[in-house]
Amino acid sequence: MVKIRCPKCKSKTVYLLASGKRRCACCRFDFISHRLPLRLTKDQWKEIMRWFLLEQSGQNIAIRTSLKRLRVLRSLTIIRRALTRDVPGIFSGTVEVDETYLGGQWKNKRKPIREMGTKRGRGTGKQPVFGILCRNGTVWAEVVENVEADTLQPLISQKVSTGSIICSDTWKAYTGIAARGYVHRLVNHGEHQYTDGKGNHINGLEGFWGYLKRKLASKGGIRREKLPLYLGEYVWRYNHRNENEMIKIKRIIKLLEREV
Ligand SMILES: [Zn+2]
Repeated sequence: MVKIRCPKCKSKTVYLLASGKRRCACCRFDFISHRLPLRLTKDQWKEIMRWFLLEQSGQNIAIRTSLKRLRVLRSLTIIRRALTRDVPGIFSGTVEVDETYLGGQWKNKRKPIREMGTKRGRGTGKQPVFGILCRNGTVWAEVVENVEADTLQPLISQKVSTGSIICSDTWKAYTGIAARGYVHRLVNHGEHQYTDGKGNHINGLEGFWGYLKRKLASKGGIRREKLPLYLGEYVWRYNHRNENEMIKIKRIIKLLEREV
């Protein structure tokens, strides 16, 4: 691992601040580090990212960049981890909330893991995922233990400012969110693909779930423990879908500087 040194006193005890700057623990000097992980140059990182943004496999990227496969795979994990942390802030206005289930055909490491009962979140069952979408087009989604009120409502409180309008289906976990300071608009299942003319629908999130499921299916199965990473990747791709390649690469470079 590359250690960042303070440019003033050369101390190796340096903290990462929330702003992305570094602070030296010895002399308290604040500075920006442009160091990137894995001892790859900025040009090498940019080349990997260009192929990554085109959704090339690690194998393909290794061939195209003449880098070792393992190094490329490691770089892709670092990129995905960085994207997973780059989430939108607090939502407000009109937002949609919804849950879905992903997987079913998990790719196992070596031998198949024995079915561990029928408990959710274990064995080969599907994984619940919860999402929030703001009508400006940005989405946030996370793997959850279950889809009960005790799990979902605190996440809504964390991610959505009070006073916002929340559209959800009639799933019982959403009952009572009005008491948490929101305007709750219910959408009846089976009807919500057609908007009621008042904007009460969860079409945005349903669109995102469709996008996510198509992308994961095209991977031909992933390891269950990798799901949060891929989820983070596709949330990011979706949120930045209208930006051009150069802007995306610049943004990812900045994120990678924090990953050192
Ligand atoms: Zn210092």
